[in-house]
Amino acid sequence: MVSYKIVRCPFCRGILAVKVGQKTKTCTYCGKRIKVSSLKALALAKDSKEAGLMVRFLKAKEAGLAHELYRSEKLKDRAQRI
Ligand SMILES: [Zn+2]
Repeated sequence: MVSYKIVRCPFCRGILAVKVGQKTKTCTYCGKRIKVSSLKALALAKDSKEAGLMVRFLKAKEAGLAHELYRSEKLKDRAQRI
């Protein structure tokens, strides 16, 4: 059962978790009121804990941290070969 969706604020591009069925949400980043129904869900989560994890993951991905992780993995690989 999906009870949360992860959306992007159209004003500041911040990533937010919104309860499914909720029509509007005040952005925690810029304070603007967002019409949730007009937004595409980036991800779906079954509870608030999962929603929180999704938000964290998507933010890290956006900040390029996922890429950083990948790069350090490659470096590790190379170091082992030497
Ligand atoms: Zn915002």
